[in-house]
Amino acid sequence: MTNSYSNKTLTPLFAITILLSFTLAGCNGEEQEIEPAEDFVSDFYSNARSLEITVAYEQGAEPYTKYNTFDSWNVCDTNINSLFSSKNIPVSVPKTLDDMTNLGRLEQNNYTRENIVQLAAALQPNENKGPQKNIVLLFLDGFYIQDGMAENRILGINLDGTPTIAIFKPVIESASNSRAEKALIEQSTIVHEIGHAIGLVNKGVKATTAHHDTANGAHCTNEGCVMYWLNGGAEVQQFITPFLLNGNVELFGKQCIQDVIAK
Ligand SMILES: [Zn+2]
Ligand SMILES: [Zn+2]
Repeated sequence: MTNSYSNKTLTPLFAITILLSFTLAGCNGEEQEIEPAEDFVSDFYSNARSLEITVAYEQGAEPYTKYNTFDSWNVCDTNINSLFSSKNIPVSVPKTLDDMTNLGRLEQNNYTRENIVQLAAALQPNENKGPQKNIVLLFLDGFYIQDGMAENRILGINLDGTPTIAIFKPVIESASNSRAEKALIEQSTIVHEIGHAIGLVNKGVKATTAHHDTANGAHCTNEGCVMYWLNGGAEVQQFITPFLLNGNVELFGKQCIQDVIAK
């Protein structure tokens, strides 16, 4: 490779792409070393009859509700519903800020696992043991604190073994200069983290074909699938670009969908 920063022929777009690939990590949010206190996934597949996505946001970290002329939350809605259509588990997803909880301004600037557990507990309507399941999505105006350090490269995390997801809005904002891209990066991150929460890949939902990227945790080897590890981080912008002008955003590869069908 002959690329270098002194190469005057670099286009601005290419320069941005390089910057981003240094800015965002691959998805490693689920590589928690803490033992899960509960196991949402095995309970889920034992008796789920419906799934509700509960969304709460810190004021100033509101999720996007549009990309171009499309409703952003249709991306989450259609992808998670199609993942579970074979299981007859309808998924309800809020579409507007009015359907979500405004948490106001929170005290902390950045968030530990314990902070996130506490915030989610106040929003979780039940213990997820019965047939009505619930995933809590938090939008925070700060970074994830991992090993005592604020991590400015983690877009979102699913707390291991739990139905709790946090999205770190400043990292979403840093991932692109385009509003439409940021909105779609946000939705792709949400779908990726829900994929982890419901047991993909080989994290409760067994891989039925050879697509588990064992070197990178619970991820998919299919680069065209939202569960590919770099699509949860450094390559998310490239991943969502083909969908920008398209209201039909199919994020899961067929292997991940097949695993849920077989579960
Ligand atoms: Zn991931
Ligand atoms: Zn996949």
